Amino acid sequence: MAKQPMLKFVKIDRDMPEKRQAESRREDFDEIYAEFAAAKAEEQASRCSQCGVPYCQSHCPLHNNIPDWLHLTATGRLEEAYATSQATNTFPEICGRICPQDRLCEGNCVIEQSGHGTVTIGAVEKYITDTAWEKGWVKPNAPLQERSESVGIIGAGPGGLAAADRLRKAGLQVTVYDRSDRAGGLLMYGIPGFKLEKDVVERRNKLLADGGVTFELNCAVGEDITFEALREKHDAVIIATGVYKSRDLEMPGSGAAGIEKAIDFLTVSNKKSFGDDVAEFTSGQMNANGKRVVVIGGGDTAMDCVRTSIRQGATSVKCLYRRDRANMPGSQRETQNAEEEGVIFEWLSAPKGFTEKDGKVAGVMVQKMRLGQPDASGRQAPEVIEGADYVEEADLVIKALGFEPEDLPTLWGQPELPVTRWGTVKAEFRTGATEMDGVYAVGDIVRGASLVVWAIKDGRDCADAILENFNSKAALAAE
Ligand SMILES: Cc1cc2nc3c(=O)[nH]c(=O)nc-3n(C[C@H](O)[C@H](O)[C@H](O)COP(=O)(O)OP(=O)(O)OC[C@H]3O[C@@H](n4cnc5c(N)ncnc54)[C@H](O)[C@@H]3O)c2cc1C
Ligand code: SF4
Repeated sequence: MAKQPMLKFVKIDRDMPEKRQAESRREDFDEIYAEFAAAKAEEQASRCSQCGVPYCQSHCPLHNNIPDWLHLTATGRLEEAYATSQATNTFPEICGRICPQDRLCEGNCVIEQSGHGTVTIGAVEKYITDTAWEKGWVKPNAPLQERSESVGIIGAGPGGLAAADRLRKAGLQVTVYDRSDRAGGLLMYGIPGFKLEKDVVERRNKLLADGGVTFELNCAVGEDITFEALREKHDAVIIATGVYKSRDLEMPGSGAAGIEKAIDFLTVSNKKSFGDDVAEFTSGQMNANGKRVVVIGGGDTAMDCVRTSIRQGATSVKCLYRRDRANMPGSQRETQNAEEEGVIFEWLSAPKGFTEKDGKVAGVMVQKMRLGQPDASGRQAPEVIEGADYVEEADLVIKALGFEPEDLPTLWGQPELPVTRWGTVKAEFRTGATEMDGVYAVGDIVRGASLVVWAIKDGRDCADAILENFNSKAALAAE
């Protein structure tokens, strides 16, 4: 009888790829996890119980065929594992690195729920596609036939790029416009290198360009080119602009120098890592070196800011969050990484103003909080503890309070562009179609600040809907 290659979770413990020691991590912006060695990847993949109804798959936004590619990895059929993995995911090695797996696939793994520890799905997914790149299996799109229809995509983040990839594969003429100088959106300039090294993003951008996608960078729609001009030029337009308006704090002292927005701080740091000459870094304005840094917020952006500050050589890094650890929105894994690297968390602490000296921030006035009754969202609302205020000294304060959409109808002079009351573009979730003819929208600009994997799903679904639409038009014309 053939040997059973799977179901090894009883005999083999869960194991992650090696994590670098915190002391060495603090010194650079390189990723913190090593790659699995082949034997280790096979061993870990073999722990999968091959469920008939795989909850990991149903909780992956892309419905990745996880049990199949785990089986193929465990049995050494890596090229087939890659083919299966990339059939449903445009950027598997990126999702493998930065998806919050504990809330998605791995959090729903049956063997995790039976107490054996989840299959390390993300790490295996990353291993499969990194190996595919190494072996030369990842090839640029080569459409079987060119088509005349063209699509303009505004925004080169994961949503826009996933759509571009799929449309180009079908032979369409695709141009991606981005106001930034590099493609990738938040993959490039939001998420720091220690979670996602930038050559991983750059090789994807190059692959798309090699496959015939045209990039128009440093091109802000609404400034360098009008939205109307794009609609005239292309048969369809996809809005994939993400959400970039930082939520702010209006309180005493909030105008002092040295209080910065998280996205500006992270963008400057990522540009610096490319070796760019960045004035805000050189002047010290957005450089944590030698400073006492306080980051306000408890989400993933705040975690990225505290860990970036540590790497820039801050003398101390504190994170203020108004709820407690159990109720923070950020990933527990990233919080633990931050703690290991020397970040101090001040839970149940909220700012009420800033002290300043000579126009520069000198401290954050902190109110201590406790959790009260659950509010309308079901979460316990923080309440102020009277008389417990104190001042947290700071030379640099970073606000990481979340993002909202920019006012696209006004910025683009398009009052008829349909938006929700939150300012996100109103679009059908399954197709991205808006009420404007030939205009689609995907990713964060539709969902509000979300996840890379959801942006990829939206981009792929939207591309399929556009193709279906073009195909029906072509069929009608041929009748
Ligand atoms: C600091 C940070 C860390 C994060 N970490 C994670 C993580 O670990 N895991 C995860 O899954 N998600 C993470 N996210 C969320 C994730 O990055 C986003 O959900 C995802 O990038 C959204 O993709 P998108 O394509 O919709 O938009 P974006 O990635 O924001 O891309 C939008 C693009 O549109 C361009 N653009 C905007 N307006 C215009 C215009 N007028 N003209 C031309 N171009 C324009 C922008 O320059 C940008 O390149 C993080 C977000 C932040 C801010
Ligand atoms: S894409 Fe994300 S959720 Fe889906 S299998 Fe990969 S890591 Fe898990």
